[in-house]
Amino acid sequence: MTNKFHRMAALLFAAVLVWSVFAPAAFAADADECPEGGEHIWMDDDIIWSADNMTVTFTFECISCGQRVERTVSTTSEITKWPTCTEPGTKDCFASVQLGDTEATAEKHNIPMQPTGHWWALVNDEDPVWADDDSTVTCRFFCRWDHSHTAEQTADVVREVQDPTCTEDGIVILSALVEQGGTTAAVTKTEPGEPALGHDWSETGVCLRCGAYAPSSSEPEDTPTPEVSPTPEPETSPTPEPEETPTPEPEASPTPAPAAPQQPSGPRAPRTGDEEEPLLWLAAFLVCSGALAVLAGRRREQ
Ligand SMILES: [Zn+2]
Ligand SMILES: [Zn+2]
Ligand SMILES: [Zn+2]
Repeated sequence: MTNKFHRMAALLFAAVLVWSVFAPAAFAADADECPEGGEHIWMDDDIIWSADNMTVTFTFECISCGQRVERTVSTTSEITKWPTCTEPGTKDCFASVQLGDTEATAEKHNIPMQPTGHWWALVNDEDPVWADDDSTVTCRFFCRWDHSHTAEQTADVVREVQDPTCTEDGIVILSALVEQGGTTAAVTKTEPGEPALGHDWSETGVCLRCGAYAPSSSEPEDTPTPEVSPTPEPETSPTPEPEETPTPEPEASPTPAPAAPQQPSGPRAPRTGDEEEPLLWLAAFLVCSGALAVLAGRRREQ
């Protein structure tokens, strides 16, 4: 049993070994072997450049059997004249490939290169120039390839008006997109707008516009009227009267009384002394004149 198995395994292993060694050699021999005998003898027959000169396709033909083979390879290039923003440049391109013992090469000289075109950037250390009426704005650009290349572009300005509120001033935002050769600069500036409106208080103390509540402390400030009547005359007039009217006239005496209440309106008068003095005088006068009247009455009766 074991001997048979070992023999089978050994045979299988040997077969695999033989196949793995000889099979590639057999295929390679088929590819390289010319039906006319020996190896192909390749001659490069045709060279085709791609439109952008990035690749070259070589075609080989066997001079014995006529078989044709294509090989496409990438090119290498050398710039012989650098292009500028506006002027074209030139370059040389090369390609090579080997098939069997045959090497094929190709080269092209003075292939034109497109101008690079300007590579614009905004001049940053320069403020944009706004028209007097802010309807347009002008920016200056320079070329990154060659800073001597400059350009100016003017664009229309978009106005955005932000209305004022009760407490905040309004503003006007001016902006524009200035475009030069594929480069766009966004410029903006802010101008003062309408001044703040102030609150529009209702009778209940609420702003009709924004709904704010009026501060309660503001109400007393609106009544500054105590200093309106500076009338110092009544102070002097009551004083001389008590001596002059000792005559029995009880009805006439109350008339000076209304003059007294006017005195408090005079603010600069010292209130404590002058205010009470006339009242005392008046009281003394009334008492005295009353007593005199009573005495006079008694005398007449007697
Ligand atoms: Zn051949
Ligand atoms: Zn340029
Ligand atoms: Zn308000």
